[in-house]
Amino acid sequence: MRAFLDARQGRHEPRHFMANGERLPNPEVSARIEILRAGAQAAGCRFEAPPDAGLGPIAAIHGSDYIQFLQNIYTRWRRIDGAGEEVIPNIHPANRTDGYPKSAVGQAGFHQADTACPIAEGTWEAAYWSAQSAIAGADAILGGTRGAYVLSRPPGHHAFADLAGGFCFLNNAAIAAERLTVAGRRVAILDVDVHHGNGTQGIFYARGDVLTVSIHADPERFYPFFWGYAQERGEGLGLGQNLNLPLPRGTDDRDYLASLEVALQRIAAFGADALVVALGLDIHIDDPFKGFAVTTDGFEAIGRRIAETGLDCLFVQEGGYVSDALGKNLTAVLSGYLDHARA
Ligand code: ZN
Repeated sequence: MRAFLDARQGRHEPRHFMANGERLPNPEVSARIEILRAGAQAAGCRFEAPPDAGLGPIAAIHGSDYIQFLQNIYTRWRRIDGAGEEVIPNIHPANRTDGYPKSAVGQAGFHQADTACPIAEGTWEAAYWSAQSAIAGADAILGGTRGAYVLSRPPGHHAFADLAGGFCFLNNAAIAAERLTVAGRRVAILDVDVHHGNGTQGIFYARGDVLTVSIHADPERFYPFFWGYAQERGEGLGLGQNLNLPLPRGTDDRDYLASLEVALQRIAAFGADALVVALGLDIHIDDPFKGFAVTTDGFEAIGRRIAETGLDCLFVQEGGYVSDALGKNLTAVLSGYLDHARA
């Protein structure tokens, strides 16, 4: 299976994030890349570096103020007397419609939802190439490839049009979905990460042409807390085109796969002809986030059920953090897909 990764994606090496009032090591480490690459190769993936498609496909999803912010905030931040090594906000607008300040500190608060998306010297370059990998994956599907894998890291599904958050800066799955949609494909996004795909939902919330479906830990007691509830169904032209399937903490293979059936039925009813899978591996029982209890066999079953839809499928990497099972879980889901995909 064709797969995409650029070496520059390793230049983002976040050091910290805050959890429960403590400054902790950031788990979205660049060491994930080698683990995931080996896991994908074990399933038969052959990696290619993406060509540079430029800013256009990124600007189709993200606003120009936000893109400029990501490009230059680190340089501006470092000019602040005594500034830390990473851009981490300490103040936020109460509403997104509040004023847009000129200050680097103020803009950080506007464009960074939380402390889990620190920006350092290599962040923009890594996020840019992570998005380029996703664009190349979409172009592979448009060129006739039936299934492809994008090792998009840093991940993307918590990034809104003008807002970073939860280790994410550019919404790779949304950028790929838009690329496919503009080319005339009818696209559904299936987010299987343990965290709700709030950025992806937000980007397409008022649109009727892209279906967004997310299976995730109930946000009543899990990040991202403010989004991911079952009653969020879209608005305007998008009403009914967003499906959230929140599940209790500790959900196992059986209950997870039952929700996957509901998701796949909705995708079939939408009439999708291409599927973008926001592939979080953090639903595994050994993932450090401890949200769900899906097993490696469960991942194989998820890959098989996705293959059985018969849809063209672009797997876009989201979460999944370092544990002994991380690489094996990627191998399992991609093998489950490839063993049952159309020739
Ligand atoms: Zn996640």
